[in-house]
Amino acid sequence: MSEAREKTEKCMICGKPSRTTICHACEDKIRSEAVDKKIRQEKAGRTDKEKK
Ligand SMILES: [Zn+2]
Repeated sequence: MSEAREKTEKCMICGKPSRTTICHACEDKIRSEAVDKKIRQEKAGRTDKEKK
């Protein structure tokens, strides 16, 4: 039983060895997806406004 918690030294998304929880590649992917979601939401809001 180890007292020290094992650090997750691999990406939680792709499972590749990474110093961070999410590697740069996946971080970039997630970021772009988040931006895309935001843009879609804004577009939906605009579309809703235009309909009114
Ligand atoms: Zn990754």
